Amino acid sequence: MGATTDLLGALRERLAAAPDADRLRPLGLGRVIAGPDALAELPAAVAALVPAGAEVALLADRMPMRRGEEDLKPAVRALLEADFEVRPVEAGPADGDVHADEETLAALTAAAAGVAAIVTVASGTVADLGKAIAAAHRLPHLIVQTAASVNGFADDQSVLLRSGVKRTTPSRWPDVLLLDGPTLLAAPRPMSLAGLGDLVSMFTASPDWLLASAVGIDESYAPTAVAIGRDHGEELLELAPRLAGDDAAAVVRLAEILAVSGIAMGVAGRTAPSSGMEHTVSHLIEMAAASRGAQTALHGAKVGVTTIVAALVWERLRARIEADGLELRFPEPAAMEARVRRAFDPLDPSGAMAAECWSDYARKLERWQANRSRLERLAREWGALQPRLDQLTVDPARLVAAMRTAGAPTRFSELDPAVDPDTARWALANCHLMRDRFTIADLACFSSGWEEADVEAVLGEAASLGAGL
Ligand SMILES: [Zn+2]
Repeated sequence: MGATTDLLGALRERLAAAPDADRLRPLGLGRVIAGPDALAELPAAVAALVPAGAEVALLADRMPMRRGEEDLKPAVRALLEADFEVRPVEAGPADGDVHADEETLAALTAAAAGVAAIVTVASGTVADLGKAIAAAHRLPHLIVQTAASVNGFADDQSVLLRSGVKRTTPSRWPDVLLLDGPTLLAAPRPMSLAGLGDLVSMFTASPDWLLASAVGIDESYAPTAVAIGRDHGEELLELAPRLAGDDAAAVVRLAEILAVSGIAMGVAGRTAPSSGMEHTVSHLIEMAAASRGAQTALHGAKVGVTTIVAALVWERLRARIEADGLELRFPEPAAMEARVRRAFDPLDPSGAMAAECWSDYARKLERWQANRSRLERLAREWGALQPRLDQLTVDPARLVAAMRTAGAPTRFSELDPAVDPDTARWALANCHLMRDRFTIADLACFSSGWEEADVEAVLGEAASLGAGL
């Protein structure tokens, strides 16, 4: 799959020539090696970065993983030992549940001191730790990605726990991302389907970001950062049915599109190209579960389900504006503060969670109030935004059909564990109240309304498509 190298090369050229290049950060990912036997290229990829015989840290958790009939981790170690000295650095306890907390990061960083490079064999949390350790030691870092489950591998951010709270933290781009067909196919299928779910967020997050810029709340919108991911939208929907079978090439392609989506976030310097309303709903579901000490489904599985609902909100609100025009509301801070407290105090009676959300939300509301004349102009000239929105949004029915043919969950009740209807309704109704990012739920709230009845109406439309509760 030499096309992969071309993909990065073409991306580099496109980024350099972009009219909005001044808004983009440099692409720090050196290579993506993808294909049916990409793992065989690992030793040469390491040799391109460190001297022969150098010591290399091999970072992984303790869970056994397969690559076809082989045991993956011993296979990687044997490959590396032919040319390098290998220092195994094992993360987490024997049951494999690794947390990216301060203590774990410090211990692993110490364990990797003095090596010439880090090879991480992982997905998710351990890959995030690898990027943070590589940043701490300023070391070359190669990731053998073990699942096509999220888009967070190919960027320079790590989700780490700070005092128990998940925070996106600057870390370091990997030098090499290795996408090996038999390895990715051996991951449990729900993980690839979660990768699909994380990717479809482009259909709602990118119009959310454009909207945030149109209302003057987030001026950072970079069309090229959106386009490099969104250009794969059609291909992604067509790829979905192949994810239902044992099609290694399809899973590798999914992983490549995930990498491009990660790159889009990396060059944008923010998660906005693929994090909008759908991610805020997913975050609220996690917050509700955490307050009960419960687990939630895979990140991308939740995001796939919430993206369908967000796509319906987009469709519904656009139709309404076209029919009736856009009439804007400018609610008083006291009323919105009360609403934030009603939403979050039941989860955290101490009031700390509501206060944290309100401090973020208040900034958004303040900017909304301050932009009144600009917003009233936007309302009059909404039509000018339509062609750009047409390029970014998706027909929700098509989205549901693609996800269903892949075998991905499309309903909250199909998630593992399921999200109960009351929690889903609560998360949808209050998603815009948690942070300062502006999404379609905010525009609904500040125009025709985002109240219980509106949420119910959207869920009714979702049900008719085979999605929603
Ligand atoms: Zn995501």
